[in-house]
Amino acid sequence: MQFCDSIRSLCDEAEAALAPRFADIDRTAFENTQKVMDAFRRHRVSDSMFQTTSGYGNGDRGRDVLDEVWAEVMGAEAAFVRHSIVSGTHALTIGLFGLLRPGDVMYSVAGKPYDTLEEVIGLGGSQGNGSLRDFGVGYLQTDLNADGSFRMEEIRSCLQDKPQIRVVFIQRSKGYLNRKTLSVEQIGEAIRAVKAIRPDVWTVVDNCYGEFVETAEPTQAGADLIIGSLIKNPGGGMAETGGYLAGTSRAVELAGYRLTSVGIGTEQGASMGQNKLMYKGLFYAPHTVAQALKTAHLAAYVFEKLGYEVEPRWDEKRYDIIQSVITRSEQKLCAFCRGIQQGSPVDAFVTPEPWAMPGYSDRVIMAAGGFTQGSSIELSADGPLREPYTAYFQGGVTYESGKIGILCAAQNLLESHSE
Ligand SMILES: *Cc1c(COP(=O)(O)O)cnc(C)c1O
Repeated sequence: MQFCDSIRSLCDEAEAALAPRFADIDRTAFENTQKVMDAFRRHRVSDSMFQTTSGYGNGDRGRDVLDEVWAEVMGAEAAFVRHSIVSGTHALTIGLFGLLRPGDVMYSVAGKPYDTLEEVIGLGGSQGNGSLRDFGVGYLQTDLNADGSFRMEEIRSCLQDKPQIRVVFIQRSKGYLNRKTLSVEQIGEAIRAVKAIRPDVWTVVDNCYGEFVETAEPTQAGADLIIGSLIKNPGGGMAETGGYLAGTSRAVELAGYRLTSVGIGTEQGASMGQNKLMYKGLFYAPHTVAQALKTAHLAAYVFEKLGYEVEPRWDEKRYDIIQSVITRSEQKLCAFCRGIQQGSPVDAFVTPEPWAMPGYSDRVIMAAGGFTQGSSIELSADGPLREPYTAYFQGGVTYESGKIGILCAAQNLLESHSE
C-alpha cells in the first residue's frame, strides 16, 4: 500500500492532537475491563464452562453463568446471551414481542428506529407477515429536537393521553440517521421523566454500538431492557454470532419466553461450543471498543481536515463507535467505502457495489473485510445511497489496522477527486 506524504503527515498530526482523548479512552477501557474481570471472578468462571452441550442443553453451566456475568457487567438484574440470536434486529424483535400485547402501543421517543425495525413494527405497509401491527400493537413516535435533546413536553403529554403505551423505546446510537448519539446520562434523564408519569411502562433501549463506550450502561440509568448484537461492541470481535438482552428480572423473563417458549424461557438451548468465544469476547470487549473509538477519532480528524463534514467532530466526546463522514455524492461515498475495503484484512481485493439489502429501503453500499461476516466491530463502512451520501464508519479491532483502513479511504478519496 502506498500513501502519499500529505496523508501520512496528516495522520501524525492527528495522533498528536488526539493524545489526551486516547488517554481518556484507555481509562474507560481499564474501568470496564475491571468490571468484566470482577464479574468473572465472582461468578467463578472456569475452563469447565467452555464445554459444549447439545440437544436441549439442559443444565448448561457455561450458558447460565455467562447470563449471570452479563447481567452483572451491564448492572442489570438478569440477562441472556445466545449464539442462536441471529442479529441485533432479531434480539430487538425478541424484546419487543416479549413485552408488547395486542392493544398496546410502542412509543419511540428518540425518533425513527433503525431501518430494519420498520418491518418488525409494521411501518412498511406490507401486512400479514406477523409484524407487531398485525398483532394489534400500535406505534407512536416523537422525534428528537434539532440539538439532539428529547422533546420532554410532547413526551409527557403523549404518555398522559395514551394509556395504551406499554413500551417506551429509545435508540441510543444514531444508526443511519444524521443525529447525535444519546449519552447514558441523557437516556437516564428521559427514563426518569417517563417513569415519573407512567411507572407502568417498560423502557427499552436499543443499545447497539453503545456498549462499553462509557463506564455505565442504560440499565444502570433505569432502563428495563437493553438489547444488542454480539457482532458489534460486546462480542469484542471474538463472538462468531449472537445477541443479548439485559434488564429487570421480569422483562428478561418475558423476553426469554419469546426466545424459546413460554414456560421454558432461558433454561434450555444448547451452546454448541460457542460459550468460550462469548466469554472471550466479553473479556476483550472493553479493549476492542477502545480500539474502535480511537480509529473513529482518527477518522474524524483526517476527513475533517480533508474538507468533509464529520459527525462527531474529532475533539468531541463520543457515545458510540460510529463515525459519519458526509460525502455529498454517490461517487465519493463509493470511493470511501472501496478504500475501507482495500484496508481490510480479509477480501481486501474485492470492490464493493451498492445493493438492495433486505430490510433496508434504499440501496446500501457496504465495505466489510472482517473475519466474521457482517461484523461491524471489525473495520467496516456502510451508507445508504441517499442524500447527503453519508458514510457510516465503525470498528477496527486493532487501532493499527483501523488506521490503515483510514489511510486507504483517504487515499482513495483524493484519487477519485483528481479523476
Ligand atoms: C446494527 C443495529 C441494529 C440491528 O442490528 P443487525 O445486527 O444489523 O440486525 C439495530 N439498531 C441499531 C442502532 C444498530 O446499529
